[in-house]
Parts: sequence; structure tokens; C-alpha cells
Amino acid sequence: MAQTTPNHTQNVSGWAAHDPSGKVTPYTFKRRENGVNDVTIEILYCGICHTDLHHVKNDWGKTMYPVVPGHEITGIITKVGDNVSNFKVGDRAGVGGLAASCLNCEYCKDGQENCCDQLQFTCNGIFWDGSITYGGYSKLLVADHRYVVRIPESLPMDAAAPLLCAGIGAFSPLKDNNLLEEPGKRIAIVGLGGVGHVAVKFAKAFGHHVTVISTSPSKEKEAKERLGADDFIISTNSEQMQSKRRTLDFILVTVPAQHSLGPTLELLKVNGTLVIVGAPNKPIDLPSFPLIFGKRVVKGSLIGGIKELQEMMDMCGKHNITCEIELVTTNKINEALGRLEKNDVRYRFVIDIADRSSNP
Ligand code: NAP
Repeated sequence: MAQTTPNHTQNVSGWAAHDPSGKVTPYTFKRRENGVNDVTIEILYCGICHTDLHHVKNDWGKTMYPVVPGHEITGIITKVGDNVSNFKVGDRAGVGGLAASCLNCEYCKDGQENCCDQLQFTCNGIFWDGSITYGGYSKLLVADHRYVVRIPESLPMDAAAPLLCAGIGAFSPLKDNNLLEEPGKRIAIVGLGGVGHVAVKFAKAFGHHVTVISTSPSKEKEAKERLGADDFIISTNSEQMQSKRRTLDFILVTVPAQHSLGPTLELLKVNGTLVIVGAPNKPIDLPSFPLIFGKRVVKGSLIGGIKELQEMMDMCGKHNITCEIELVTTNKINEALGRLEKNDVRYRFVIDIADRSSNP
């Protein structure tokens, strides 16, 4: 049932899932009028993150149908509110996972809105006015300017879109673990998908030795030749896994499905760190022996704060880092969701929301 919130009077067309079947259909809904702190964005592109699939299929049991997915949004600002001085009409803008937070806690004040206890997401969240948030699989977005970033002129708007979630989801844990400043570490990325492929690019750009740990032998050539990975091993091949035992300083796990961390933890050196960003719908198996032998650390990470997101975007603009994408038209969203579920994408689908490829 569509929501009715006062001041939500703009009709917007988009695509919504109405049940866990895994499909979206065209859907017209209401967004709020542009408020004093808001910017309105004509959406050009939106990435298809695995989180969208989790939402669409209600993997986490939290989906509020109808859900309009999408939180890797790029577009052009068409309106600015009276309190907005850092954006103007015509600016290239990006919106990621964050739609709102308390703005008052120690984390919000420190630029870590992603750690705020009251954070709300760009889709399937509840905004300050009580409305359910609808994401970027839609033509237009109204966003509080404090959660909007600039897209550097040097970046294409389509291949920049996944940076808003996959990018920051990889950048933040690398930064948080001092891997921007201290090159030469031995790092592994588990799962070469949307988040994983950007993580490989970042880790290489920061000067590390990078191993991809994958379930897909077909990705090896590209991982090495195109993304710059130094090494590639198959997680189900125990010989290959054994060969890396106690060799790694840091591991980033992006796997969206239930699995055991035990064999992966064995690859860490003493005091090595493993960060989980993948969010399967069932608990991950975390055996104690590989933790206590080797004093290994396991932590999680959730996207990043807005200041950090802008920092990452500017860095990507400066060094020309973008995502490897497959651009799809809006009538192919369901096909793309189906292929993503089958792990058949190199490496991120991006929806051409404004249909620029057929109407340039
Ligand atoms: P994705 O594009 O589907 O990539 C995930 C990769 O994991 C796949 O390409 C595949 O790589 C591997 N994989 C898939 N199924 C697997 C299985 N059953 N067993 C082992 N490996 C498997 O997904 P994504 O968009 O990168 O997102 C990954 C996860 O991170 C999702 O759960 C998403 O919700 C979450 N996420 C978290 C954050 C954060 O900040 N915490 C940000 C974005 C996304 P190989 O073929 O190489 O094995």
C-alpha cells in the first residue's frame, strides 16, 4: 500500500518490488517537495548492489513492500533549498546508502554518520518525517544535502555510480585499517563482485600485494590483467588455500552467502585482521581455533561517513578510478537482478535511468 505523508505531493515514476519474487515492476509513488535543507536530483544512473537483491527478496526479513531499491545514485541537481549553499542547480551529484542520521551523536559530529544508532537508509528506511524511503530505481530523488556528494568532472556518471556504495564499502575498511598510508601489505579480497572488484583496484592503488580469493576460476585472467591482482586462488581448492597459510596481513570478505570463515582466517598472519562487509541472511560460521591461534581479529564495516565518501570520490576523480560496469536499460532490471543472483556480472550492473544510451 502506498504511503501518504503530508507534503509528499510529487509524483515520481520508478520500479518497485511488491513481494519476495525477485522482480520489480513500474511503480508511481510520491516524494516530498524540496525542503529548505534538500536538493532535488534528476537521476541519471543507479547501480544494482547485492543489497538491492537482499531487499527485493526480503533476505533480511526487514523489507517494507513496495520497496524501490537503489542507493548508488548519480544525477544532476535541479532544485536547492534555502539553507543549501554548497550545491547549485546543474551540479553533478551522488547519493549513497545514507538518507538521515541524528546529526547530534558523537559519530555524526565526527563524520561517521554510518555509525549513528539512528541512521536511515536511502531505500527501505524511515526518514525524519516518518515516510518510508524510496531509492534510486526512479527518475527523481529529494535528498537532504548533508548526505549528498559531488561527482568530479573527470568521472563518467555511469561508472561512478557504484562508487557510492561498493566503492565506499571497500574504501572505508581499508582506510580504517591504515592501509592508505602504509603500502606493501599483503591483502586478500574474498569475492570478486561489485564491492570486491573496487576493493582490488583500491588496494592496488594504495600499493599493496593483492590476492583474490574466489569461487569462480573464470575470473582469474581478468582479475590479474584488468584489475591488477597479483594472485588468484580458489576458495574451494584446499591446496591453494594451504599455500597462503599465515601469509596475509588483511582480508576483506564481501561474500553475500552463508559460509565458514575458518579456512580464510587461517591465511592471516599473527595479529592479522579480517573485515566482513558481506551480509548473508544467515549467521557466518566463526570457529574459535583460527582466532585464538594467531590472535586474529575479526570486525565488520558499513559503508562510510559522508566526508569520507567525498574524500573517496575526489581520490577516484584524481586517479581516474571507476567501476567496471554493465549498463542496462530500465526494461532489463529484472534480467540483471536474476543474473546478479547467479553471480553472472562483470562487475556491477548500472541502470541507465534517464535512458541516455538510447536518447543521448
Ligand atoms: P556481488 O556483486 O554479488 O559480489 C559478491 C561476490 O561474492 C560474488 O561475485 C562472488 O565472487 C562471491 N560469492 C557469491 N556467492 C557466493 C557464495 N555462495 N559463496 C562464496 N562466494 C560467493 O555482491 P556485492 O554487491 O559486492 O555485495 C556483497 C555483499 O556485501 C552483499 O551481502 C551486500 O549486501 C554487502 N554490502 C555491504 C556493504 C558494507 O558496507 N558493509 C556495502 C555494499 C554491499 P566470486 O565469483 O569471486 O566467488
